[in-house]
Amino acid sequence: MTAFLVVSRGILMRIILIGPPGAGKGTQCQRLVEFLDVPHLSTGEMLRAEVRSGTPEGVRAAAYMDQGQLVPDSMILGMVTKRLESADCRGGFLLDGFPRTLPQASTLDDLLERRAMNVDGVLELAVPRDELVRRMLARKRADDNPEIFSKRISSFEVQTAPLLEYYDRQGKLATIDGLGDAEEIFGRVKQALDRFRRGPAGRR
Ligand code: ADP
Repeated sequence: MTAFLVVSRGILMRIILIGPPGAGKGTQCQRLVEFLDVPHLSTGEMLRAEVRSGTPEGVRAAAYMDQGQLVPDSMILGMVTKRLESADCRGGFLLDGFPRTLPQASTLDDLLERRAMNVDGVLELAVPRDELVRRMLARKRADDNPEIFSKRISSFEVQTAPLLEYYDRQGKLATIDGLGDAEEIFGRVKQALDRFRRGPAGRR
């Protein structure tokens, strides 16, 4: 493998980041949006903003989120579609926390296809379950109740993990080892971006 990267800073790409809760998506997203200079589209953030504003959607969403369950697709799709249709997403974006179910993924494909766009690549941030639990216990965030946390991991395994196969079949998946320090992991992310840029043949 060559260490030479053809991807340079500020290149516009359409990327999806998938990973279980506690995998370190937030940290990698921060670096990615800065590196690619694209908007960060986090459905978790969008939902938390609705919850904070106390909108009817927010009140409904909170009931699911507090239980570690996914919010129904119908609530998510409108929100994301609107955001993706705004002008700043035309050149590129980083999707974080979406899609999370197969119906969400196929809706996204349809939406992009209608606009003659496609996803350049999907990054899976892979971290074993026992490490996720260890990290959660170490950071003890207010929303990290162990029982709810394990429900969120299960919902990832049952509802979101099938997306990995879905994107792998499209030749778009890159699995990143999520163990190590953040900078080292970001190095792996950049190599995957490079493979996305080279096209399907350079992907594995
Ligand atoms: P995490 O990746 O740590 O689970 P997020 O910030 O991505 O956290 O999401 C927080 C919560 O918001 C999820 O547990 C879920 O209830 C809800 N949520 C976020 N994105 C989606 C989505 N695409 N579909 C359904 N529910 C979602």
